[in-house]
Amino acid sequence: MRKINTRNFVRATRGTAREINRRIVLNLVKEHQPISRADLARRMRIGRGMVTSLVAELLADGSIYEGSTAHAPRGRKPMMLFVRTHDRLAVAVDVRFSRTYLMLSDFSGRPIALDEFETIPDPIALVAGLARRIQRLLKARDAKSKVNGVGLVVPGMVDATSGRILNAPQLGWRDVDVRAALEKATNLPVHIENAPIACALAQMWLGDGDTETPRDFVYLTVGDGVGTGVVVNGEVVRGHDNTAGEFGHVPLNPNGPQCLCGARGCLEAYASNLATLSRYLGQEFSPTETRRLLQESGITILDVIARARDGERRAIDAVEETAGRLGEGLAIVINALNPSRIYVGGEITELWEQIEPAMRRKIRERALTVKAAETPLVPEPASSYPRLRGATAIVAAPVYAAPQVA
Ligand SMILES: [Zn+2]
Repeated sequence: MRKINTRNFVRATRGTAREINRRIVLNLVKEHQPISRADLARRMRIGRGMVTSLVAELLADGSIYEGSTAHAPRGRKPMMLFVRTHDRLAVAVDVRFSRTYLMLSDFSGRPIALDEFETIPDPIALVAGLARRIQRLLKARDAKSKVNGVGLVVPGMVDATSGRILNAPQLGWRDVDVRAALEKATNLPVHIENAPIACALAQMWLGDGDTETPRDFVYLTVGDGVGTGVVVNGEVVRGHDNTAGEFGHVPLNPNGPQCLCGARGCLEAYASNLATLSRYLGQEFSPTETRRLLQESGITILDVIARARDGERRAIDAVEETAGRLGEGLAIVINALNPSRIYVGGEITELWEQIEPAMRRKIRERALTVKAAETPLVPEPASSYPRLRGATAIVAAPVYAAPQVA
C-alpha cells in the first residue's frame, strides 16, 4: 500500500489505464519472448481484441516486432512477438576515479564497441573529452541515428530529477552539472545516475528473460570505491535528498584509515580496489597516496587478483582481508534491509571461490537470524561490464518502467 502524496503527484488522465496496459504487454513480451497474442491474452486475462489493439500500438511505435518461430508445431505458425532491442542503441559511460569507460550497446546490454581513457578530474575538460570520443564511436559504427541517448554513471550521489551530481567524493565533485554540457556537445539526451543504483536497474530491466529478479535486493559494487544500490518493492530507494543507501560510507572503525568522504574507517576505505592494492603494496590506505603509488608501480587490481590465484601469499592476504571487510559491511546491509539477494559486482568477483567463505563467515557472526545469515550472494563477473550495463539501463529502463501516477 502506498499513500498518495497530495503535494506532489501526477494526475491520471484518460490515457493512463491504456498506457499502463501497454507497458504490461511490453514487459510480458520482454520476459516471455517469443510470445503469441493468444498467450498474452491468457496471461493478462483480457480479450483477444484488447490485446491485438495494444500490440498494434507497440508495433507502431517500434517497441516490439513480429516474426515467426522455427519451433512451432505443424500447421499454421502463429506470429510471435519480440522486444525490439537490436537496433535501439545507447552510449554507456562509466566515470571512475582512475579511468573512464565507454560502451556502445543495444538495449539488451549487448556490447558493440568499447573505449577507455584516463579520467580527467576537471568536469568541463572531461565532458569535452567524452563528447569527442562519443562522436568518434558513433561515426565509426554509423550509429548516430539509432542511438536513444547517453547513460553516464558516477561514483557518487545524483539528484534524480535534475541529474546534478551532488557529491562524488572520489572525483572531488560537489554539486556539479555535466548533463547540460554533455547534451549540448553530443546533441543527445543524457541520463546520469549513481553507479550502484544503475547496476541495480540493469538487474531489473536488462535481465535476459530472467523473471526471477527479486523485488527486494541490493547491488554491491566494489571498484575504486564501494557502493550499494538498494531496491525495495521493485523501486530504487533514493531517500529524501538522494543520499540513501550509501553503505560504502558506514564506519567499520571510527579510527580506521582516511576515506575520500572525509571520515575515517568507512567500509570503502577497507574494501575498495584501492584499499586492497594499498594493502598489497604494504601501505597505510590513503587514496591520493595510493593513486600515486599505482601510477609509479603500474600494478592494477587485476594483477593482484592474478597473483592471488597463482598462490602468492601477500596477494591472498590482501584479498581475504578485503573479503572479510565486505562481509562486515554486508552484515550491516542485511540487518538494515533484509534483502532477498545481494548481487556483487567488481573485479574481485573473479576470485569468488576464495572470497565468499571469508564474507560468509563475517555475515554469520553478525546476522540476526539463521535465514538472514543465508542471504544469497550472487557474483556478477567483471567480464559482463556491470557498470556499463547499468549505464545502458538508465537509457533503456524508462521505456519499460510503470508510468508514475499519483
Ligand atoms: Zn567514507
